Amino acid sequence: MLETSTPVQYVKGIGPRLAEVLASKGIATVDDLLHYLPFRYEDRLNPRSVAELRAGEMATVIAEVRNSGLFLTRRMPIFQLTVGQGRTRLKCIWFNAAYLQGRFQAGQMVALYGKVEEDRDGRLQIVQPQFEILGDIYEEGGADEAEKKAAASLEIGRIVPIYESAGQGKLTPRWFRRIIRWALENLNLDLPDPIPAAVRAHLSLVSPREALWKVHWPDPGESFSDLQSSRTAAHLRMIFDELFFIELGLELKRREQKAQTGIGFQLTARVREAIKKILPFHPTAAQKRVLKEIAADMQMPSPMRRLLQGDVGSGKTIVAFQAAIIAMENGYQVALMAPTEILAQQHYFSARQILEGAGYRIVLLTGSLESDRKRDVRRHIAQGHAQLVIGTHALIQDRVEFENLGLVIVDEQHRFGVMQRLKLMKKSDEGSKTIEPDVLVMTATPIPRTLALTLYGDLDVSVLDELPPGRTPVVTRSVADERAPEVWKFVRKQIAAGHQAYVVYPVIEENEERELKAAEQMHRQLREKIFPNLHVGLLHGRLDAGEKERIMREFQRGEIEILVSTTVIEVGVDVPNATIMVIEHADRFGLAQLHQLRGRIGRGAAKSYCVLMRGGKISEEGERRLEAMVRSNDGFQIAELDLELRGPGEFFGTKQAGIPSFRVANIIRDRQLLEAAKREAAWAISGPNAEISRGEIDRALREMRSRWAMSYGLVEVG
Ligand code: ADP
Ligand code: MG
Repeated sequence: MLETSTPVQYVKGIGPRLAEVLASKGIATVDDLLHYLPFRYEDRLNPRSVAELRAGEMATVIAEVRNSGLFLTRRMPIFQLTVGQGRTRLKCIWFNAAYLQGRFQAGQMVALYGKVEEDRDGRLQIVQPQFEILGDIYEEGGADEAEKKAAASLEIGRIVPIYESAGQGKLTPRWFRRIIRWALENLNLDLPDPIPAAVRAHLSLVSPREALWKVHWPDPGESFSDLQSSRTAAHLRMIFDELFFIELGLELKRREQKAQTGIGFQLTARVREAIKKILPFHPTAAQKRVLKEIAADMQMPSPMRRLLQGDVGSGKTIVAFQAAIIAMENGYQVALMAPTEILAQQHYFSARQILEGAGYRIVLLTGSLESDRKRDVRRHIAQGHAQLVIGTHALIQDRVEFENLGLVIVDEQHRFGVMQRLKLMKKSDEGSKTIEPDVLVMTATPIPRTLALTLYGDLDVSVLDELPPGRTPVVTRSVADERAPEVWKFVRKQIAAGHQAYVVYPVIEENEERELKAAEQMHRQLREKIFPNLHVGLLHGRLDAGEKERIMREFQRGEIEILVSTTVIEVGVDVPNATIMVIEHADRFGLAQLHQLRGRIGRGAAKSYCVLMRGGKISEEGERRLEAMVRSNDGFQIAELDLELRGPGEFFGTKQAGIPSFRVANIIRDRQLLEAAKREAAWAISGPNAEISRGEIDRALREMRSRWAMSYGLVEVG
C-alpha cells in the first residue's frame, strides 16, 4: 500500500529519473501527484460523430487515422491529417508543424480537440487541434490484450482528464492518467477525514476519497461546465481543504499571539492630550476610526497584531506617530522600521518635525551610519534614552537591544508576506519570553481583501479608506516618447508657476550598472540641455546616505526644482509642492509600483499631473497597465487589476513575497471559499462545543501542523 507521503519514485512506472522531472513540477510525493489536477476534461463518453459537427464549436472527436502529410506552401509548411469514422472524413491542419511528420500511422485511433471551422470549400475541418494518439487499442489479438483493454477504458468511453504534459512532452496526459489512476487504486483513502464533521456539513463537503477519485475521474453525469470551471463537488472539497488548513494555521497563530502577555497601555486624559497636541491638521474620519481601533488594541493586555492598510497619501504616518505617543507617554520605547534607508530618513525627518517639538527623543539607526555613531545610538537605545527609534528592517535582524520596547511599527510596503513576518516575530520573541511588544504593520499599496486574508490572516486589519481633504485627483496621461519636447515644455510651465517635478527612471536590478548610467545620462541631458537654468538633482540607490539626505532636503526646501530619480523615491517621500511626475519607460514598471510612484504627487491643493512616457513597441500587458493608470486613481481597483494581470505569485514582485503557494486553489477564482475557510477555521478553533469535539479539533490541528511543516518549511505554527 502507498502512503500519501511516499515519494513518487516508488510509484509503479516512475524511477529516479522521472521522479526528478516531476520534482521540477513540484511533485515530490504521492500526495503532490494526486493534487496535480487536470487542467481540462474531454467528453469521450459522447464524442461527436463527424457528421454532426457544426462550424464554430469546440469539439472532441475520436476517429481513425486515414492519412497524413506535410504540404509546403509558399508561406509555411502545413501538416494535414485526415481521420475517418466509417465513410465520413475530417481534415485537421497544423501550421508550421513539420515536427508532426511521421507521428501518425493509418489505423491508429486519435482523440482530437479543437475548434471546428469551415475551409474555403465549405468543408469542415479542425485547425491546430490538441490531439492524443490512442494507439491501436481497438485491434484484436496480441499477448497483452487485457492490458490494452484496461488502458483503453481510461482513454475512451468516459470523461477523460487532460493533464499538462511535463518533461518536454515525455510525460504525456496519458502517462499521468495511468500513473495517477494506479496511485488512486493503491492508496488507502479511507482514513478519517481531517476536516471536522460540522465544518463538512456547513459546506456540504464530500469525503477526501470521493474528491480525489472524482476530480481525476468524473462520473459520466458530471456537469461539463462545472468541471471546466473547477466547481464540481470534488473540486470544491479539494480547494476548501487546502485553504482551510492554511487559515487554521493563521488563526492558531493569531490566537497564540493574543494569549501572550503584552502591555496594557494606559489611555489617560494626559495621553489623549499629548496625542491631540501634535496634530498639524484635523484628522479625517477614517484616521480617527483607525486610531481608535489601534488605541483599543493597545489598551488590551494582549499584544496587538494589527495591519493598517491605506492607499498612498491616505495619511498613515500621522496615525503611526499617534500610536507611538501612546507608547512613549506610557514610558515605553517605539521602533519604526522602514523597508529602505531613504524612507527611514524620510520618517525620521517628519518625526522630528512633528514630535521633537513635544520633547520626544528620536534617533535614526541605519546600516550606513559610521560605526562610532552607530555604537552611540545603540547605547542610547539600550539605556532607554532614545524613545523613538527609526531604522530599516535591519533593526530586528541585527537584534538591537532595547531597554523596554513597547511598540513596533513596520512600514512594510509589500516587501514582507506572512511567512517572513512569522519568522521575524519568532526571532524577536526568542530573546524576551516575558513581554511581547505591540506590533502595527502598515502597507502602502492596498491589497485586495482576499489576498489580505491569506497574507495577513494572522493580523487584525484596519483600513484608511479616505484621503485627506482638499486633494484633486492626479491627472494621468500616457504619452509616446516623440512628444517629449511638449512634456518638457509643460514641466517648465509648472515650475514657472512655483511647483516642482519628479522625473523617474527605471533601474532594474539585473542591469543596474548599465541602467544607472542611462539615468545619469538622462540627468545630465536634462540639466545641461533641457533645463539649463533650473536646478536638477539626481537621486539613486547607490549614493551614500549623507548624500541622499542632502538631496532630499534640498528638494524638500525647493532648492532643487526637478528631481531625477530611480524608484528609490517610490515610498514615503512627501513633498506636497511637487505637482508633476514624468515616468520614463513607464511600461517597464509594475502597476503597484506605478501607483506608488504617482502617490508622491497630488499631495497638496494644486492640481497634479502624471505623465507616463513610453517608447517603441510595448507589450500588451504593459499597455493594459498604462491604461489602468490613466483610468483609475483608486489603489484598491488598481491592486485588483494587478492581481488579475499577474496572478497571486507575481503580485508581490519578488520570490520572497512569502505567500503560501497553492496547489489547487486560486485565490482570485476562489475568493468565496477562502472567506468560508477563514470563517470555518476560526469557528472550529473556538470549540469544542455541541457540534465539534476536542478529538476532531486535535486531529485537524495535527493535520495542519504536518502540512505547514511540509509545504511552508521553515515556519512553525503552534
Ligand atoms: P501615507 O499614507 O502615504 O504614508 P502620509 O502619511 O505621508 O501618507 O500623508 C500624506 C500627506 O497628507 C502628508 O503630507 C500629510 O501631512 C498629509 N495629511 C495626512 N493626514 C492629513 C489630514 N487629516 N489633513 C490634511 N493633511 C493630511
Ligand atoms: Mg507613508
